[in-house]
Amino acid sequence: MVDLQLFSKERTYLGAITPQDDGKSVSVAGWVYDIRELGKIRFLVLRDTSGDIQVIGLKKETAPEIFDAMGRVSRESVVFIKGIVKKSEKAPGGRELAPETFEVLAVAEHPLPIDVSDFSKTELPKRLDYRFLDLHRKKVQATFKIESTIMQAYHEFMTKEGAIEAQFPSIIGSSSEGGTELFSAQYFEKKAFLSQSCQLYKQMLACSMEKVFALFTVWRAEKHNTVRHLNESRQFDFEMAFADEFVVMDVLARCVQFIVKRVLELHSKDLSELGVTLIVPAVKYLTFAQVAELMQKEGIHMGKDDLSGEAEKKLNDLFPDTIVFVHDWPLSGKPFYIMPKGDGLSRGFDAIYKGMEITSGGQRIHLPELLTERLKVKGLNPADFESYISSFRYGAPPHAGWGMGLERLTMMMLGFSNIREAVLFPRDRDRLTP
Ligand code: ATP
Ligand code: MG
Repeated sequence: MVDLQLFSKERTYLGAITPQDDGKSVSVAGWVYDIRELGKIRFLVLRDTSGDIQVIGLKKETAPEIFDAMGRVSRESVVFIKGIVKKSEKAPGGRELAPETFEVLAVAEHPLPIDVSDFSKTELPKRLDYRFLDLHRKKVQATFKIESTIMQAYHEFMTKEGAIEAQFPSIIGSSSEGGTELFSAQYFEKKAFLSQSCQLYKQMLACSMEKVFALFTVWRAEKHNTVRHLNESRQFDFEMAFADEFVVMDVLARCVQFIVKRVLELHSKDLSELGVTLIVPAVKYLTFAQVAELMQKEGIHMGKDDLSGEAEKKLNDLFPDTIVFVHDWPLSGKPFYIMPKGDGLSRGFDAIYKGMEITSGGQRIHLPELLTERLKVKGLNPADFESYISSFRYGAPPHAGWGMGLERLTMMMLGFSNIREAVLFPRDRDRLTP
């Protein structure tokens, strides 16, 4: 039986095996990816999260019980092997492992419910049903390794920027923004809701702590089932006092560039596994009116106060690998809390990256009277927002911020056609498990 404590000290990760290990004995463990039998030779590809190696069994040389076990083990079973690393011209990666011990730690039952080979054609819904097994695949692991770096890079960037990280409540007593449909929940005797954004909280916090950020889970009970929306998603939120929309657009641009740089530094192998070429994006600023004019020239339809999906795609054709900020957005197309700019325009913006919105943001209204007026214009009842309005009555500076979807950003960076590829366990119109 493998001694797990000893193994955790002695373990060699497969991705860390180098020519210096040739001739050495190593302790490795992982999943059996592939098995091939050529008469008196048995090949088995062992994989762990860092890489893989070919294990070779020779009828003449390998201990008979090991040679037998290699013939019986099923694909995706978990094995522990002690063996000698050998240089080999023919082996993928240039070396192979001659086993001296071979222990099956967990048998994978067959048939497997989904194809987990590198060439798997199993459709996404089925893969998601068996996500735990789908996660055996290199491509899927590459995705979530990169997404982990995206989150860490966001933290690193924001911390360097001098922002403090905040946690906000996810159960709320009333709709914070109006508009979006909410999931309701029973909170003892009261009716409560799951938060659709931390908008109001991050504003209240920025009005004292100045620069704040959060990675916040949001729930939206929208019934649509699209490739770009989830009903539960995670948002990078940022809010800053003494700032207008241009100050925070600049923060966002540098933040996304920093994230992309980090991914490039740490994940060249994962990116090539996914077949993705990534470059640090440039930045472009356009007014909504300029975009409307461009789209008219291109013969592409868009709304009076919103871009269309087609227009977002066209912006990417015109400005590839660029974060396109669309600002001076029509006031009618932005939420009540966005600061008006005059002439029917607002201090709100969207950021488009690789043909899709990744962020909305803007300068907020910090003036109680103006906020009351804007709520009424939007058909909302100021009485329902009294505590929010009041938070600006006792010394609230001008402030601005944005929210960027984690899964949306991952989807665009990695070129997925469906956002569900970028969520471990998606929640959508039809899916509540696993
Ligand atoms: P869209 O126009 O794409 O529907 P939105 O304008 O409704 O997005 P916002 O309320 O502005 O979205 O949210 C900020 C960001 O959060 C979006 O730019 C996007 O990156 C992400 N996001 C919004 N809704 C969803 C969703 N349902 N699923 C996943 N990510 C989302
Ligand atoms: Mg938006």
